[in-house]
Amino acid sequence: MGYAKNDILTVKIEDMGNDGEGIGKTDGYTLFVKDAVIGDTVGCRITKAKKNYAYARLERILEPSRVRVEPRCRFHRQCGGCQIQAMDYKAQLAFKQNKVKNNLIRIGGFEADYVEKVMEPMVGMEDCFHYRNKAQFPIGEDKQGNLAAGFYAGRTHDIIANTDCVLGVEENKEILECILNYMKNYHVPAYNEQTGKGLVRHVLIRKGFASGEIMVCLVLNGNGNKKGDFLPEQDRLISGLKKVQGMTSISVSINAERTNVIMGKEVHGIWGKDGITDTIHMVETKNFTRTGQGISYFISPLSFYQVNPVQTEKLYSLVSEYAGLSGRETVWDVYCGIGTISLFLAGAAKQVYGVEAVPQAISDARENAARNGIGNAEFFVGRAEEILPEKYEKEGVYAEVIVVDPPRKGCDAKVIAAMLRMRPERIVYVSCDSATLARDLKMLCDGGYEVSRIRGVDQFCHTVHVETVVLMSKVQK
Ligand code: SAH
Repeated sequence: MGYAKNDILTVKIEDMGNDGEGIGKTDGYTLFVKDAVIGDTVGCRITKAKKNYAYARLERILEPSRVRVEPRCRFHRQCGGCQIQAMDYKAQLAFKQNKVKNNLIRIGGFEADYVEKVMEPMVGMEDCFHYRNKAQFPIGEDKQGNLAAGFYAGRTHDIIANTDCVLGVEENKEILECILNYMKNYHVPAYNEQTGKGLVRHVLIRKGFASGEIMVCLVLNGNGNKKGDFLPEQDRLISGLKKVQGMTSISVSINAERTNVIMGKEVHGIWGKDGITDTIHMVETKNFTRTGQGISYFISPLSFYQVNPVQTEKLYSLVSEYAGLSGRETVWDVYCGIGTISLFLAGAAKQVYGVEAVPQAISDARENAARNGIGNAEFFVGRAEEILPEKYEKEGVYAEVIVVDPPRKGCDAKVIAAMLRMRPERIVYVSCDSATLARDLKMLCDGGYEVSRIRGVDQFCHTVHVETVVLMSKVQK
């Protein structure tokens, strides 16, 4: 029996897919229902039918799941940024724990019992709204042609106006309204993706939760005027923005390419400092209370910085625990960004080396070592897959512990190969994508390592994303 587009079916949702979609079956036919929650019985409409399965959209909740909650954001279905906001927080954590387990089993080829044994409970968050320190809002026109800042409606580039995302800081709204008012008053056009014309493309806002400092960076489609200003009546914009409590840095980034990449390659400060500072503290990993002093970081607009500062303290403290340093070790921090993990570990290591591809991040890292008086951290700019093998093969730089924290696509195969040749005692793998993590762990296990501990940290509440820390130990031959 087949189904066709627009057919309406009733189905009980029994599972959830990696992207947060509800999964149910009728007569052996599988339905993937966006916005349905595990435990719901729903009426859904098929959007795309295949022989044995179909994609469908939620039409009506016939019987709500026990874990279903009222989403706090009224745009939650349109936006698609918070795929699981309609699920209670405990169920979200269970979903993430399962997602990591399943990937390790299916992609990594690990035994279910083994994963069960080494995996520790997910580290959740107490107050899981307004946790993000960074937001990037597209600027454009909504369907009615009004100037708008907001988000792209799921899988499209239609802008829906919303300056008040429930994951972001409250200042976002004030800042965006200030920018939109300035644009209206001085006829500054928003960028139009279809024509490639217009000026303001995106606004990046980042706040240091510990410092209260805020940076705003406007991404512009062009290089400004002859006067040396990047924006018409630039002073008007600045005088508005600098009234926002905590405003520390205003800059522009030039991106004149027709691309989905948000930030341009250059940044020019137009007011205040070149970035903001923030502090991250070590916490005890039993009850997550703060211990000792924090490390203070300078962050420039193009540098990566973890988006959930409350959870980052837990994440880095776990990394430190897994690294098991005694003060005698040489440590590599691969994909080090602004040197956050490197400097977090430096106090307990003999020497730390960091490697990172973005030059601005490495210059932040060096400044960060100096501002914290840390003398045993050295940073290299370049691709990890080039620098790591080179330092080892040509200069004989080794390590007892290697930490890797790659982007979603995981470690380059050359990085894995280099680590296997360096044969550190321990590898701590920090991952924001458990599918590529599973793939890489398999390679490391084939190369003579075993997984000793795994723990997820919920850095991205209400979304399907999950951060995972894994401790791998060298198998003694
Ligand atoms: N450990 C850091 C950064 C993690 S994000 C932190 O916790 O803040 C991953 C970092 O890898 C980013 O800073 C990104 O710029 C960098 N990166 C991406 N590809 C890279 C590559 N091939 N070589 C080195 N660094 C890379």
